[in-house]
Amino acid sequence: MNTGSMWEKTRLDVAVIGGGAAGMMAALQAAWAGAQVVLLEKNEKLGKKIYITGKGRCNVTNTAEGEDFFRQVPRNPKFLYAAVRQFGHEDLTALLAMLGTETKVERGGRVFPVSDKASDVTRALARGMREAGVQAALNTAVSRVQAEAGGYAVQLADGGALYAKAVVVATGGLSYPATGSTGDGYAFARDNGLAVTPLSGSLVGLVTAEKWPTLLMGLSLRNVRVTARAGKTKIYDELGEMLFTHFGVSGPLFIELSSHLPADLSGVTVTLDMKPGLTSEQVDQRLQREFAQNARCRLSTVLLTLMPARMGPVFAQCCGLSPEQPVSQITREQRLALASHLKALPIRVSGTRPVEEAIVTRGGVDVRAIEPGTMMSKASPGLFFAGEVLDVDAHTGGFNLQIAFSTGALAGKSAAAYAAPRA
Ligand SMILES: Cc1cc2nc3c(=O)[nH]c(=O)nc-3n(C[C@H](O)[C@H](O)[C@H](O)COP(=O)(O)OP(=O)(O)OC[C@H]3O[C@@H](n4cnc5c(N)ncnc54)[C@H](O)[C@@H]3O)c2cc1C
Repeated sequence: MNTGSMWEKTRLDVAVIGGGAAGMMAALQAAWAGAQVVLLEKNEKLGKKIYITGKGRCNVTNTAEGEDFFRQVPRNPKFLYAAVRQFGHEDLTALLAMLGTETKVERGGRVFPVSDKASDVTRALARGMREAGVQAALNTAVSRVQAEAGGYAVQLADGGALYAKAVVVATGGLSYPATGSTGDGYAFARDNGLAVTPLSGSLVGLVTAEKWPTLLMGLSLRNVRVTARAGKTKIYDELGEMLFTHFGVSGPLFIELSSHLPADLSGVTVTLDMKPGLTSEQVDQRLQREFAQNARCRLSTVLLTLMPARMGPVFAQCCGLSPEQPVSQITREQRLALASHLKALPIRVSGTRPVEEAIVTRGGVDVRAIEPGTMMSKASPGLFFAGEVLDVDAHTGGFNLQIAFSTGALAGKSAAAYAAPRA
């Protein structure tokens, strides 16, 4: 379809670029507000990223309210106050229910479709858009957004163009580019005079300076505690599950830790507590007991009672001991070193994995250039931004999608009010 030729001569009210969570919500709200809306999506279908969220179940939002919500947003939470207050989790679940997708609340306030199918979320929004009269153009990539008298020229990759009084850029970030999020919106922002803050991955695996975690690739540990400090400040302290990988560490605890880390990792220390239910003294007593009962055994054999078999030899070496050493020869100092490493095994984080592997992009369109009450660019009237393209990101638990829906809803309503004010 040559979209440009379809609308070439028409000046639309609102063009929404991107058919993800933010773009679909923006298009729906703009149409409900009375605007004539076109949504341009470069993929062959809408919501490609939504399909893979929450392991295919889509953790669509979280029931956290007020400050409990904003505490989960490490960067620019205040910018989101207006957006989240005008369209919060209850508004979202009511809207989805109205469009045929009921939701349920699980552990930690996480909200999922009752069907456990992410596709039901996209289906509901697509249905809403259709019924509201949004024209969705699939396989339609936008290559440029250019201000012109009375609005914007939206150039399409197929050579066509269309014209709209208002444009909502909802092109997502840089993570999982196979879903269509290839960072195009940053160029649209820069071309129109907006700054883009440095881009990297958040909610992503961590690369370790030491090689030993890579030797344990594929091993996961449950009921462990990860604590991180930046200088003397504790920035993370959680119980849960972790995974050793070919690059270092990942799994829920370290993925979550990545979004708490400062950009400069030089002052960051991370420790792993493998016995969070015991005090240091209790761990030492346990070691003394094991050593007394297994006096003829090698250290690696005794460690089997304390950790998975694969980990014992690596752990012994982290403590400066040979796994082959008979426990009868272990000195008090060496035993205390084992106990302290069981409670606080140091892990040196040297970096994060690439943004393409991240759940969400850190950085984006500088929010200082955006009006928080409308999502419109301060310098380019009629140009709106929503979703992950903005310099906002949150922890896991449904917060990133809620941010996309909240900013999308606000951008859509505001774009309609700007382009087609009701009499
Ligand atoms: C594996 C994974 C699991 C996740 N799970 C969860 C979860 O359970 N809960 C949660 O809250 N968050 C989750 N997230 C994060 C969440 O999915 C995103 O933050 C959110 O989808 C961002 O929405 P968006 O609409 O801003 O961007 P996107 O969903 O990236 O949508 C952008 C759309 O714009 C289109 N586009 C881009 N450029 C152009 C162009 N030039 N022309 C036309 N169209 C274009 C893209 O094709 C895409 O469809 C997960 C992310 C990943 C990667």
